Amino acid sequence: MNGITRVPPPVNEPVLTYAPGSAERAELKAELAAQASQIVDVPLIIGGKEVRTGDTFDVVMPHDHGHVIARAHRAGPMEIEASVKAADAAQRDWSMMPWEDRVAVFLKAADLLAGPWRAKLNAATMLGQSKNAFQAEIDAACEIVDFYRIGANFAERIYAMQPMSDPGIWNRSEYRALEGFVYAVSPFNFTAIGANLAGTPAMMGNTVVWKPAHSGVLANYYVMKLLEEAGLPAGVINFLTGDPVAITAHVLSQPTLAGVHFTGSTEVFNSFWKTIGENMSTYRGYPRIVGETGGKDFIVVHPSADPAAVKTGIVRGAFEYQGQKCSAASRAYIPESMWASLKGPLVEDTASLTMGDPRDFSNFVNAVIDQKAFDKIKSYIDAARASDDADIIVGGECDDSKGWFIRPTIIVAKSPHYVTMCDEIFGPVMTIYVYPDAKWSETLKIVDSTSPYALTGAVFARDRAAIREATDVLNNAAGNFYVNSKPTGAVVGQQPFGGARASGTNDKAGSMLNLLRWVSARSIKETFVSPTDIRYPFMDEA
Ligand code: NAD
Repeated sequence: MNGITRVPPPVNEPVLTYAPGSAERAELKAELAAQASQIVDVPLIIGGKEVRTGDTFDVVMPHDHGHVIARAHRAGPMEIEASVKAADAAQRDWSMMPWEDRVAVFLKAADLLAGPWRAKLNAATMLGQSKNAFQAEIDAACEIVDFYRIGANFAERIYAMQPMSDPGIWNRSEYRALEGFVYAVSPFNFTAIGANLAGTPAMMGNTVVWKPAHSGVLANYYVMKLLEEAGLPAGVINFLTGDPVAITAHVLSQPTLAGVHFTGSTEVFNSFWKTIGENMSTYRGYPRIVGETGGKDFIVVHPSADPAAVKTGIVRGAFEYQGQKCSAASRAYIPESMWASLKGPLVEDTASLTMGDPRDFSNFVNAVIDQKAFDKIKSYIDAARASDDADIIVGGECDDSKGWFIRPTIIVAKSPHYVTMCDEIFGPVMTIYVYPDAKWSETLKIVDSTSPYALTGAVFARDRAAIREATDVLNNAAGNFYVNSKPTGAVVGQQPFGGARASGTNDKAGSMLNLLRWVSARSIKETFVSPTDIRYPFMDEA
């Protein structure tokens, strides 16, 4: 293969509207009806083969939890071991395959997804993870397409980074895949996260064992089928569902573990890190550990801000996808001078949010993911209702009779350290603290120090000095910092995503920085005319 090739210049995939009368709406509605009328048997995929253990678990619709949409097979010890072996067996050929061929698989997957596979992935995400059509479209369609198309461009730019060379020598950098396999573990809340966690290391030549979250299994299975359809060779990504603890214990004990690509809660990621530390002597190399974890994302409002923009930032930032985005705003700091005029419209807009089944497109919010999440969120709401330190000003109703529904809820806390100002709840609950206008600077310090996390945050202000002050004081408080914008909705290639502190390793999904973690550079120096005399000129005394 001779040629210095370029991947097609990427642009972000346009978001379709699903407006009444549109072709995409009709197609999606038909696909929703079809998927809701079947139970998909989801196998493990190991070394390119579908494996069925017969030990299954049900995947239900969160908005109608009596309705099973998929039945997934659990891996046992044999299958877990086989998936690592399959990843190891595929490693050499895949890592040595020319990068153009590797990225072509992902470019093809992106085109299939932008076209004939779009409705399938969106419908599975809507039904399995309870997302409305728009939330599914920006996740399962657009973000995956962007990860793969823009990722291919990042890969090209990485491979093009070459060192300088003195006369007579030629220095080159090769960006090898890691020597081993990558363990990808994904959360329920974005189909695109699984597609990225497994797909991006694979694009860079690595083989992968991928364990998706139980409740995201259906859409993630379709991602796997999409990649197979696009030509991904057997064994490059091995899809493993089942007990996360047993799978992880085996996988993290393997000498060929070369990396972990994780997104989920801080607690689980910390346990991975600890296990890897304990297992260090068994590994061939130092595993790359990349994890994006929890958040307690903030909106801090200066008295100069536009109240209508603040209201919209809070409602959209806190309640879209039921607050189950790692970036969702869940604490806000409002100046006293604005509160009287903001409160009414904020309550009114929040109360107006329609809630129900995502197949009814008039619904803005849907159900939370499962019983465990429902119980946890409800316990915070119940505690706030009973507390003298907090008032629920809108929402608070919880009903799990048919689906796990929780009304978008706003709590006003009397202290900036009230529990719902500090803990990650991961649901449709926003807590507001109203601060005295004169305490703007102190409030910024409270925002910075309240939570161990540092994922996303936003400042709303018209006063430029206030924007500058907040940006400086909150320098380390958020890896994604927004000015007069809600803190959610990061776009691949535009706002590289991730946070530090307890929010993760900040290896920025959707940027070249992430891809760099999945390569191990080799420097090659070639001398054209090699010296033949061991003596250096300085050694001549005469
Ligand atoms: P989770 O931590 O419960 O699960 C994530 C993954 O880890 C799943 O695949 C799960 O099966 C697995 N897992 C769970 N317990 C495990 C254990 N003991 N051992 C091994 N594996 C285990 O998280 P979730 O509920 O799926 O997702 C919500 C969390 O993810 C929130 O904390 C959220 O902030 C975080 N998140 C972060 C980002 C980010 O980019 N920072 C993005 C999305 C979600």
